[in-house]
Amino acid sequence: MSVHVPVLTAEIVGALQPGRGGLYVDCTVGLGGHARALLAGGAARLIGIDRDALALAQAGEALAEFGSRVELVHGDYRDVARLLDERGAGPIDGAVADLGVSSLQLGEGRGFSFQRDEALDMRMDTSQGPTAADLIGAAGERDLADVIYRYGEERRSRAIARAVVAARKAAPIRTTGQLAAIVRRAAGRRGRIDPATRTFQAIRIWVNRELEGIDTFVRDICARLRAGARFAVVTFHSLEDRPVKLAFRALASGPEPFRLLTKKSVVPGEDELCSNPRARSARLRAIERVE
Ligand code: SAH
Repeated sequence: MSVHVPVLTAEIVGALQPGRGGLYVDCTVGLGGHARALLAGGAARLIGIDRDALALAQAGEALAEFGSRVELVHGDYRDVARLLDERGAGPIDGAVADLGVSSLQLGEGRGFSFQRDEALDMRMDTSQGPTAADLIGAAGERDLADVIYRYGEERRSRAIARAVVAARKAAPIRTTGQLAAIVRRAAGRRGRIDPATRTFQAIRIWVNRELEGIDTFVRDICARLRAGARFAVVTFHSLEDRPVKLAFRALASGPEPFRLLTKKSVVPGEDELCSNPRARSARLRAIERVE
């Protein structure tokens, strides 16, 4: 299994200043990398949310040394208001969200990757919802093409959707290898990247409804920040960066006292880009509720 190296950790700690103590929320605790940095940096308590139960189990081990300072919650960050209410959490001293997939999810057995042939699942939360195979088996050709175009920014979306529908008439598409072969044939090779890349990204976003509710989520967190507290968000592609950018801008120019800490998004430095491939498309934005 590949190790998950958290991105932009120094920048996140720099923005959130956990040395001030208090309660922090990691909305995508994943394998606990950012959470560890916040706790080691002085956060008194941390609530870590993730929709992936397998990731949470690993976070539990990784953060065991911090004992009762950590509470891990299996849930969706879009329910963060309820999840925090249920725990009686008052105002928070900082929050981080690192959107997207973890290396654990891209690894073996989860059906996210076209690098190997396995069941076509792609659910971050395996306790609920349809798998990629279920959705691909049932979708109309037009909807499929729209998903691949919108979420994958794939120009060959129509040809790919047509090929998928033709193939599934012959036999259900159950594995990542089957899907990758169909897409590669329909998309044709252009440039360096595997022609299945964009379609796999699109289907992953679709299965996990990744672009829904980002605006409300950002507002829900910002509504909970104590004066002086900050929220940092890392995104990995423009489709998820945009709603974050717009929500932050609206807050900063709205009636409440919010201040953008990042006029432009912050990207990893050369060293991080060289040592962590996952950092390549990462961008950080942060906002503060002013004292
Ligand atoms: N910052 C983490 C890595 C996060 S990877 C670390 O340092 O280890 C992104 C994580 O976000 C994944 O574990 C994924 O399951 C989680 N995630 C994605 N969408 C989510 C959502 N809507 N609600 C909760 N967790 C989500």
